[in-house]
Amino acid sequence: MRFDLATLSLLGALQALLLAPLLLVATRAYTGRARTSLRIWGTVLLLQSLGWLLAALRGQVSDWWSIVLANGVLIVSYAETARALRLLLGVPQRRAWLAAIGLAAWLGIAWFGIVQPDYRTRVCIAAALVGCYLAMLLWPLRHALRSGGSTAQRVMLLVLAGAAVAWCLRLRELATVPQVGLLLATPANVVNMVYGTLEPVFASLGFLLMYNEAAQAELRRLARTDPLTGMLNRLALDEEGQRLFGGGDALAALMLDADHFKAINDRFGHAVGDHVLAALANGIAALLRPGDVLGRAGGEEFLLLLPRSDLASAIALAEVLRAHVATMSLELDRQVQPITVSIGVAVRTPDDRDMAGLVRRADRALYQAKHAGRNRVVAADALVA
Ligand code: GH3
Ligand code: MG
Ligand code: MG
Repeated sequence: MRFDLATLSLLGALQALLLAPLLLVATRAYTGRARTSLRIWGTVLLLQSLGWLLAALRGQVSDWWSIVLANGVLIVSYAETARALRLLLGVPQRRAWLAAIGLAAWLGIAWFGIVQPDYRTRVCIAAALVGCYLAMLLWPLRHALRSGGSTAQRVMLLVLAGAAVAWCLRLRELATVPQVGLLLATPANVVNMVYGTLEPVFASLGFLLMYNEAAQAELRRLARTDPLTGMLNRLALDEEGQRLFGGGDALAALMLDADHFKAINDRFGHAVGDHVLAALANGIAALLRPGDVLGRAGGEEFLLLLPRSDLASAIALAEVLRAHVATMSLELDRQVQPITVSIGVAVRTPDDRDMAGLVRRADRALYQAKHAGRNRVVAADALVA
Protein backbone atom coordinates (compact mmCIF):
# COMPACT_ATOMS: atom_id res chain seq x y z
CA MET A 1 0.00 0.00 0.00
CA ARG A 2 1.32 3.45 -0.87
CA PHE A 3 0.51 6.56 1.07
CA ASP A 4 0.69 10.07 -0.19
CA LEU A 5 1.36 12.08 2.96
CA ALA A 6 0.46 15.46 1.44
CA THR A 7 -3.00 14.06 0.59
CA LEU A 8 -3.38 12.56 4.07
CA SER A 9 -2.42 15.91 5.56
CA LEU A 10 -5.03 17.65 3.40
CA LEU A 11 -7.65 15.11 4.49
CA GLY A 12 -6.79 15.83 8.12
CA ALA A 13 -7.14 19.55 7.43
CA LEU A 14 -10.52 19.04 5.77
CA GLN A 15 -11.79 16.81 8.57
CA ALA A 16 -10.83 19.34 11.25
CA LEU A 17 -12.35 22.15 9.18
CA LEU A 18 -15.69 20.31 8.90
CA LEU A 19 -15.73 19.24 12.55
CA ALA A 20 -15.04 22.70 13.97
CA PRO A 21 -18.29 24.49 12.94
CA LEU A 22 -20.32 21.36 13.72
CA LEU A 23 -18.91 21.30 17.23
CA LEU A 24 -19.27 25.04 17.76
CA VAL A 25 -22.92 25.03 16.61
CA ALA A 26 -23.84 21.84 18.46
CA THR A 27 -22.51 23.20 21.76
CA ARG A 28 -24.13 26.64 21.50
CA ALA A 29 -26.59 25.89 24.27
CA TYR A 30 -23.93 24.56 26.63
CA THR A 31 -22.91 26.52 29.71
CA GLY A 32 -20.09 26.88 32.20
CA ARG A 33 -16.41 26.11 31.97
CA ALA A 34 -17.12 23.01 29.87
CA ARG A 35 -18.58 25.28 27.21
CA THR A 36 -15.49 27.48 27.24
CA SER A 37 -13.40 24.35 26.94
CA LEU A 38 -15.35 23.07 23.93
CA ARG A 39 -15.16 26.49 22.26
CA ILE A 40 -11.40 26.44 22.66
CA TRP A 41 -11.36 22.95 21.16
CA GLY A 42 -13.46 24.18 18.20
CA THR A 43 -10.89 26.92 17.58
CA VAL A 44 -8.11 24.34 17.94
CA LEU A 45 -9.69 22.34 15.12
CA LEU A 46 -9.66 25.41 12.88
CA LEU A 47 -6.00 26.08 13.74
CA GLN A 48 -5.09 22.44 13.11
CA SER A 49 -6.81 22.54 9.78
CA LEU A 50 -4.71 25.57 8.78
CA GLY A 51 -1.56 23.95 10.17
CA TRP A 52 -2.11 20.70 8.27
CA LEU A 53 -2.90 22.59 5.08
CA LEU A 54 0.35 24.55 5.31
CA ALA A 55 2.26 21.36 6.14
CA ALA A 56 0.81 19.64 3.06
CA LEU A 57 2.27 22.45 0.95
CA ARG A 58 5.83 21.71 2.17
CA GLY A 59 8.18 22.18 -0.78
CA GLN A 60 5.60 24.08 -2.83
CA VAL A 61 5.50 27.27 -0.79
CA SER A 62 8.30 29.06 1.03
CA ASP A 63 9.64 27.51 4.25
CA TRP A 64 8.43 30.58 6.09
CA TRP A 65 4.90 29.37 5.39
CA SER A 66 5.24 25.63 5.60
CA ILE A 67 7.70 25.48 8.51
CA VAL A 68 7.60 28.67 10.55
CA LEU A 69 3.91 29.54 10.18
CA ALA A 70 2.64 25.93 10.01
CA ASN A 71 4.49 24.99 13.20
CA GLY A 72 3.48 28.23 14.89
CA VAL A 73 -0.18 27.53 14.20
CA LEU A 74 0.12 23.89 15.30
CA ILE A 75 1.97 24.88 18.48
CA VAL A 76 -0.80 27.34 19.39
CA SER A 77 -3.34 24.59 18.69
CA TYR A 78 -1.50 22.14 21.00
CA ALA A 79 -1.20 24.76 23.74
CA GLU A 80 -4.89 25.54 23.42
CA THR A 81 -5.76 21.83 23.51
CA ALA A 82 -3.82 21.49 26.74
CA ARG A 83 -5.57 24.57 28.14
CA ALA A 84 -9.03 23.30 27.14
CA LEU A 85 -8.40 19.89 28.69
CA ARG A 86 -6.97 21.32 31.90
CA LEU A 87 -10.04 23.55 32.14
CA LEU A 88 -12.31 20.53 31.69
CA LEU A 89 -10.34 18.60 34.31
CA GLY A 90 -10.86 21.49 36.73
CA VAL A 91 -7.14 22.27 37.23
CA PRO A 92 -5.47 25.69 36.73
CA GLN A 93 -4.90 26.44 33.04
CA ARG A 94 -1.22 27.48 33.43
CA ARG A 95 -1.39 29.75 30.40
CA ALA A 96 1.99 31.34 31.09
CA TRP A 97 3.72 27.96 31.18
CA LEU A 98 1.97 26.78 28.03
CA ALA A 99 2.87 30.01 26.24
CA ALA A 100 6.51 29.97 27.40
CA ILE A 101 7.06 26.36 26.33
CA GLY A 102 5.28 26.99 23.02
CA LEU A 103 7.28 30.14 22.27
CA ALA A 104 10.60 28.47 23.07
CA ALA A 105 9.75 25.54 20.79
CA TRP A 106 8.56 27.80 18.00
CA LEU A 107 11.73 29.92 18.09
CA GLY A 108 13.81 26.75 18.00
CA ILE A 109 11.86 25.36 15.06
CA ALA A 110 12.07 28.69 13.22
CA TRP A 111 15.85 28.76 13.78
CA PHE A 112 16.36 25.20 12.54
CA GLY A 113 13.93 25.83 9.70
CA ILE A 114 15.31 29.03 8.22
CA VAL A 115 18.69 29.97 9.71
CA GLN A 116 20.24 26.53 10.06
CA PRO A 117 17.82 24.12 8.36
CA ASP A 118 17.81 20.77 10.18
CA TYR A 119 14.74 18.52 10.02
CA ARG A 120 15.91 16.08 12.72
CA THR A 121 16.45 18.84 15.29
CA ARG A 122 13.06 20.34 14.44
CA VAL A 123 11.33 17.02 15.08
CA CYS A 124 13.22 16.66 18.39
CA ILE A 125 12.12 20.14 19.45
CA ALA A 126 8.51 19.42 18.45
CA ALA A 127 8.65 16.09 20.31
CA ALA A 128 9.95 17.83 23.43
CA LEU A 129 7.11 20.35 23.20
CA VAL A 130 4.49 17.64 22.79
CA GLY A 131 6.10 15.74 25.66
CA CYS A 132 5.82 18.76 27.98
CA TYR A 133 2.19 19.39 27.03
CA LEU A 134 1.33 15.70 27.38
CA ALA A 135 2.89 15.66 30.86
CA MET A 136 0.80 18.70 31.80
CA LEU A 137 -2.29 16.72 30.81
CA LEU A 138 -1.40 13.23 31.92
CA TRP A 139 -0.57 14.41 35.45
CA PRO A 140 -4.05 15.76 36.31
CA LEU A 141 -5.69 13.00 34.28
CA ARG A 142 -3.78 10.38 36.28
CA HIS A 143 -5.07 11.95 39.49
CA ALA A 144 -8.64 11.92 38.16
CA LEU A 145 -8.33 8.30 37.02
CA ARG A 146 -6.87 7.25 40.36
CA SER A 147 -9.99 8.44 42.13
CA GLY A 148 -12.27 6.36 39.90
CA GLY A 149 -12.18 8.30 36.64
CA SER A 150 -14.82 8.14 33.92
CA THR A 151 -15.28 6.73 30.43
CA ALA A 152 -14.59 10.15 28.91
CA GLN A 153 -11.34 10.47 30.83
CA ARG A 154 -10.27 7.02 29.68
CA VAL A 155 -11.05 7.94 26.04
CA MET A 156 -8.95 11.08 26.47
CA LEU A 157 -6.15 9.05 28.00
CA LEU A 158 -6.20 6.76 24.95
CA VAL A 159 -6.07 9.76 22.58
CA LEU A 160 -3.09 11.20 24.45
CA ALA A 161 -1.35 7.83 24.70
CA GLY A 162 -1.86 7.43 20.93
CA ALA A 163 -0.15 10.77 20.34
CA ALA A 164 2.72 9.79 22.64
CA VAL A 165 3.25 6.46 20.84
CA ALA A 166 3.12 8.11 17.39
CA TRP A 167 5.76 10.66 18.44
CA CYS A 168 7.98 7.99 20.01
CA LEU A 169 7.90 6.02 16.75
CA ARG A 170 8.84 9.15 14.84
CA LEU A 171 11.77 9.87 17.13
CA ARG A 172 13.01 6.27 16.94
CA GLU A 173 12.81 6.28 13.17
CA LEU A 174 14.65 9.58 13.03
CA ALA A 175 17.66 7.94 14.66
CA THR A 176 17.65 4.92 12.34
CA VAL A 177 16.73 5.96 8.78
CA PRO A 178 19.23 7.83 6.60
CA GLN A 179 16.75 9.96 4.66
CA VAL A 180 14.15 11.98 6.53
CA GLY A 181 11.47 14.53 5.64
CA LEU A 182 7.94 15.46 6.67
CA LEU A 183 6.23 14.14 3.55
CA LEU A 184 8.40 11.04 3.01
CA ALA A 185 6.16 7.98 3.38
CA THR A 186 8.28 6.21 6.01
CA PRO A 187 6.38 3.87 8.41
CA ALA A 188 6.54 6.29 11.37
CA ASN A 189 5.54 9.24 9.21
CA VAL A 190 2.56 7.29 7.87
CA VAL A 191 1.49 6.29 11.41
CA ASN A 192 1.82 9.92 12.49
CA MET A 193 -0.14 11.27 9.59
CA VAL A 194 -2.91 8.64 9.84
CA TYR A 195 -3.14 9.30 13.57
CA GLY A 196 -3.17 13.03 12.85
CA THR A 197 -6.20 12.64 10.58
CA LEU A 198 -8.08 10.45 13.07
CA GLU A 199 -7.20 12.44 16.18
CA PRO A 200 -9.64 15.35 15.58
CA VAL A 201 -12.54 12.88 15.56
CA PHE A 202 -11.41 10.90 18.61
CA ALA A 203 -10.45 13.96 20.61
CA SER A 204 -13.74 15.68 19.73
CA LEU A 205 -15.56 12.59 20.94
CA GLY A 206 -13.51 12.66 24.13
CA PHE A 207 -14.27 16.35 24.62
CA LEU A 208 -17.99 15.84 24.07
CA LEU A 209 -18.05 12.89 26.48
CA MET A 210 -16.13 14.87 29.08
CA TYR A 211 -18.47 17.81 28.62
CA ASN A 212 -21.44 15.51 29.00
CA GLU A 213 -20.07 14.13 32.25
CA ALA A 214 -19.24 17.60 33.57
CA ALA A 215 -22.74 18.82 32.66
CA GLN A 216 -24.37 15.80 34.33
CA ALA A 217 -22.30 16.37 37.47
CA GLU A 218 -23.22 20.06 37.50
CA LEU A 219 -26.92 19.28 37.05
CA ARG A 220 -26.76 16.75 39.86
CA ARG A 221 -24.98 19.28 42.08
CA LEU A 222 -27.62 21.92 41.33
CA ALA A 223 -30.44 19.44 41.94
CA ARG A 224 -28.97 18.64 45.36
CA THR A 225 -28.03 22.14 46.51
CA ASP A 226 -30.12 24.69 48.34
CA PRO A 227 -29.52 27.89 46.38
CA LEU A 228 -29.86 30.23 49.37
CA THR A 229 -27.43 28.60 51.78
CA GLY A 230 -25.33 26.47 49.40
CA MET A 231 -25.98 23.49 51.69
CA LEU A 232 -27.59 20.20 50.68
CA ASN A 233 -31.32 20.41 50.01
CA ARG A 234 -34.06 18.10 51.21
CA LEU A 235 -33.64 15.68 48.31
CA ALA A 236 -29.90 15.34 48.90
CA LEU A 237 -30.44 15.01 52.65
CA ASP A 238 -32.82 12.09 52.04
CA GLU A 239 -30.25 10.42 49.77
CA GLU A 240 -27.38 10.99 52.17
CA GLY A 241 -29.53 9.84 55.10
CA GLN A 242 -30.40 6.60 53.35
CA ARG A 243 -26.76 6.04 52.42
CA LEU A 244 -25.57 6.55 55.99
CA PHE A 245 -28.41 4.55 57.49
CA GLY A 246 -27.76 1.71 55.00
CA GLY A 247 -24.14 1.58 56.20
CA GLY A 248 -25.38 0.19 59.52
CA ASP A 249 -22.93 2.21 61.68
CA ALA A 250 -23.80 4.45 64.59
CA LEU A 251 -25.56 7.60 63.40
CA ALA A 252 -26.81 10.75 65.10
CA ALA A 253 -29.31 13.26 63.75
CA LEU A 254 -29.48 16.87 64.90
CA MET A 255 -32.47 19.01 63.97
CA LEU A 256 -31.66 22.72 64.30
CA ASP A 257 -34.22 25.50 64.06
CA ALA A 258 -33.62 29.26 64.28
CA ASP A 259 -35.44 30.82 67.23
CA HIS A 260 -38.03 33.54 66.58
CA PHE A 261 -36.92 33.81 63.01
CA LYS A 262 -40.22 35.27 61.95
CA ALA A 263 -39.42 38.30 64.12
CA ILE A 264 -36.18 38.88 62.17
CA ASN A 265 -38.10 38.80 58.91
CA ASP A 266 -40.79 41.10 60.28
CA ARG A 267 -38.27 43.57 61.62
CA PHE A 268 -35.62 43.65 58.90
CA GLY A 269 -37.37 42.27 55.87
CA HIS A 270 -37.20 38.99 54.01
CA ALA A 271 -33.96 39.80 52.16
CA VAL A 272 -32.10 40.37 55.43
CA GLY A 273 -33.71 37.17 56.74
CA ASP A 274 -32.23 35.33 53.74
CA HIS A 275 -28.80 36.74 54.52
CA VAL A 276 -29.10 35.64 58.16
CA LEU A 277 -30.09 32.12 57.09
CA ALA A 278 -27.02 31.84 54.83
CA ALA A 279 -24.74 33.20 57.59
CA LEU A 280 -26.27 30.76 60.07
CA ALA A 281 -25.72 27.78 57.75
CA ASN A 282 -22.12 28.78 57.04
CA GLY A 283 -21.43 29.40 60.74
CA ILE A 284 -22.64 25.89 61.58
CA ALA A 285 -20.86 24.25 58.62
CA ALA A 286 -17.53 25.80 59.68
CA LEU A 287 -17.54 23.74 62.88
CA LEU A 288 -18.22 20.34 61.33
CA ARG A 289 -15.90 17.41 60.69
CA PRO A 290 -15.34 16.00 57.21
CA GLY A 291 -18.04 13.41 56.65
CA ASP A 292 -20.69 15.23 58.69
CA VAL A 293 -23.71 16.00 56.53
CA LEU A 294 -25.49 19.34 56.85
CA GLY A 295 -28.54 20.29 54.83
CA ARG A 296 -31.49 22.60 54.84
CA ALA A 297 -34.50 20.54 55.83
CA GLY A 298 -36.86 23.43 54.98
CA GLY A 299 -37.52 27.06 55.98
CA GLU A 300 -35.17 27.99 58.82
CA GLU A 301 -34.58 24.38 59.80
CA PHE A 302 -31.38 22.41 59.26
CA LEU A 303 -30.70 18.70 59.60
CA LEU A 304 -27.23 17.57 60.58
CA LEU A 305 -26.24 13.90 60.29
CA LEU A 306 -23.22 12.71 62.23
CA PRO A 307 -21.87 9.36 61.11
CA ARG A 308 -20.25 7.11 63.74
CA SER A 309 -21.37 9.43 66.52
CA ASP A 310 -22.83 8.31 69.87
CA LEU A 311 -25.34 10.27 71.92
CA ALA A 312 -22.77 11.90 74.22
CA SER A 313 -20.61 13.27 71.39
CA ALA A 314 -23.70 14.33 69.40
CA ILE A 315 -24.99 16.29 72.39
CA ALA A 316 -21.53 17.79 72.94
CA LEU A 317 -21.35 18.98 69.32
CA ALA A 318 -24.93 20.29 69.47
CA GLU A 319 -23.97 22.32 72.53
CA VAL A 320 -20.89 23.71 70.73
CA LEU A 321 -23.06 24.69 67.76
CA ARG A 322 -25.73 26.28 69.93
CA ALA A 323 -23.16 28.30 71.89
CA HIS A 324 -21.37 29.36 68.69
CA VAL A 325 -24.58 30.61 67.07
CA ALA A 326 -25.48 32.51 70.24
CA THR A 327 -22.22 34.45 69.94
CA MET A 328 -22.56 35.17 66.24
CA SER A 329 -24.42 38.49 66.88
CA LEU A 330 -25.18 39.59 63.33
CA GLU A 331 -25.09 43.26 62.46
CA LEU A 332 -28.35 44.03 60.73
CA ASP A 333 -29.30 47.55 59.71
CA ARG A 334 -26.45 48.85 61.90
CA GLN A 335 -27.92 47.12 64.94
CA VAL A 336 -26.41 44.06 66.58
CA GLN A 337 -29.03 41.35 66.42
CA PRO A 338 -28.55 38.22 68.50
CA ILE A 339 -29.61 34.94 66.99
CA THR A 340 -30.08 31.60 68.66
CA VAL A 341 -31.00 28.07 67.66
CA SER A 342 -32.77 25.22 69.36
CA ILE A 343 -31.48 21.73 68.66
CA GLY A 344 -33.08 18.31 68.93
CA VAL A 345 -30.70 15.34 69.06
CA ALA A 346 -31.41 11.66 68.40
CA VAL A 347 -29.23 8.63 67.76
CA ARG A 348 -29.98 5.49 65.86
CA THR A 349 -31.39 2.61 67.95
CA PRO A 350 -31.54 -1.09 67.04
CA ASP A 351 -35.33 -0.71 66.60
CA ASP A 352 -34.96 1.91 63.86
CA ARG A 353 -36.18 0.53 60.54
CA ASP A 354 -35.38 3.60 58.45
CA MET A 355 -34.05 7.13 58.56
CA ALA A 356 -37.51 8.66 58.98
CA GLY A 357 -37.90 7.27 62.52
CA LEU A 358 -34.59 8.75 63.63
CA VAL A 359 -35.37 12.17 62.13
CA ARG A 360 -38.82 12.12 63.70
CA ARG A 361 -37.26 11.63 67.15
CA ALA A 362 -34.82 14.50 66.54
CA ASP A 363 -37.80 16.63 65.48
CA ARG A 364 -39.73 15.77 68.63
CA ALA A 365 -36.69 16.66 70.73
CA LEU A 366 -36.48 19.99 68.90
CA TYR A 367 -40.10 20.65 69.74
CA GLN A 368 -39.28 19.98 73.39
CA ALA A 369 -36.32 22.38 73.20
CA LYS A 370 -38.62 25.09 71.83
CA HIS A 371 -41.16 24.36 74.51
CA ALA A 372 -38.54 24.54 77.24
CA GLY A 373 -37.62 28.11 76.28
CA ARG A 374 -35.44 27.88 73.08
CA ASN A 375 -31.66 28.39 72.71
CA ARG A 376 -31.08 24.92 74.11
CA VAL A 377 -30.24 21.33 73.22
CA VAL A 378 -32.57 18.44 74.04
CA ALA A 379 -31.80 14.79 73.34
CA ALA A 380 -34.67 12.55 72.24
CA ASP A 381 -33.32 9.47 73.93
CA ALA A 382 -33.08 11.33 77.23
CA LEU A 383 -36.76 12.17 76.84
CA VAL A 384 -37.67 8.54 76.38
CA ALA A 385 -35.60 7.45 79.37
P1 GH3 B 1 -39.60 29.45 66.62
O1 GH3 B 1 -38.63 29.96 67.61
O2 GH3 B 1 -40.78 28.81 67.25
O3 GH3 B 1 -38.96 28.56 65.63
O4 GH3 B 1 -40.14 30.72 65.89
P2 GH3 B 1 -39.97 31.09 64.38
O5 GH3 B 1 -40.46 32.49 64.20
O6 GH3 B 1 -38.61 30.83 63.95
O7 GH3 B 1 -40.86 30.00 63.71
P3 GH3 B 1 -42.02 30.04 62.67
O8 GH3 B 1 -42.20 28.67 62.19
O9 GH3 B 1 -43.21 30.76 63.25
O10 GH3 B 1 -41.45 30.93 61.51
C1 GH3 B 1 -40.45 30.52 60.68
C2 GH3 B 1 -40.13 31.70 59.80
O11 GH3 B 1 -39.06 31.42 58.94
C3 GH3 B 1 -41.29 32.08 58.95
C4 GH3 B 1 -40.75 32.21 57.58
O12 GH3 B 1 -41.11 33.43 56.99
C5 GH3 B 1 -39.26 32.18 57.80
N1 GH3 B 1 -38.62 31.58 56.67
C6 GH3 B 1 -38.71 30.32 56.22
N2 GH3 B 1 -37.94 30.15 55.10
C7 GH3 B 1 -37.36 31.36 54.88
C8 GH3 B 1 -36.46 31.83 53.87
O13 GH3 B 1 -36.04 31.12 52.97
N3 GH3 B 1 -36.06 33.11 53.94
C9 GH3 B 1 -36.50 33.95 54.93
N4 GH3 B 1 -36.08 35.20 54.95
N5 GH3 B 1 -37.35 33.54 55.87
C10 GH3 B 1 -37.77 32.26 55.85
MG1 MG C 1 -37.83 28.86 64.00
MG1 MG D 1 -39.16 26.20 61.77
